[in-house]
Amino acid sequence: MQSDSCLGTLFIVSAPSGAGKTSLVAALAEQLADVQTSISHTTRPMRPGEQDGVNYHFTDREQFLAAVAAGRFLEHAEVFGNLYGTSADWVDAQRAAGKDVILEIDWQGAAQVRRLVPQARSIFILPPSVAELERRLRGRGQDSDEVIAHRVAGAQEEMTHYGEFDFLLINDDFDTALTDLKAIFLANRLARPLQQQRHAARLADLLSPPANG
Ligand code: 5GP
Repeated sequence: MQSDSCLGTLFIVSAPSGAGKTSLVAALAEQLADVQTSISHTTRPMRPGEQDGVNYHFTDREQFLAAVAAGRFLEHAEVFGNLYGTSADWVDAQRAAGKDVILEIDWQGAAQVRRLVPQARSIFILPPSVAELERRLRGRGQDSDEVIAHRVAGAQEEMTHYGEFDFLLINDDFDTALTDLKAIFLANRLARPLQQQRHAARLADLLSPPANG
């Protein structure tokens, strides 16, 4: 079996709805090579503009539960009444190919992944303020004050879990947050164990005795 240090890193990215997680992750994946974002399986209905196999793999509860029983998910959780899960095989294949993998999942899934893959790095994205969070949630549609208040409360519940994550990122200015996010990925790639493996031949050469003459 391949040792874990050969694998791409597993990154967990969590955030309350309205923090801008999906846009930041999409921009990162565009700018950085060798990063793959996992497409989750979900039982929630498709939203306008979404595509099966692009935003999610949309499925029904029965199929989802059969996949859980067959051990096909690395993690799964119920969020706001819908089931969500990450394909274990897909993640393993990407990491084995040396790709860094991003899981955009909630705090419950993050906790499961941390237990299974202790080397995973986790990032929590926060909005700059409750007022701005509310403005972003409101900007999405014509929802009533009651619906918005409910979403803000849900977001605040999710944010109580920030302390479980390795990195905290504030998405006030998008470009700044993207630079910060990229910095986490780039710094991780320069970590000594990974570099040592990548540059094994170079290191051996650098440390070999000088040739005579
Ligand atoms: P939405 O339905 O708005 O796209 O996502 C709702 C919540 O489910 C978000 O917090 C999102 O991160 C989370 N989520 C999406 N996919 C997964 C997954 O595969 N596993 C877990 N645990 N949560 C997920």
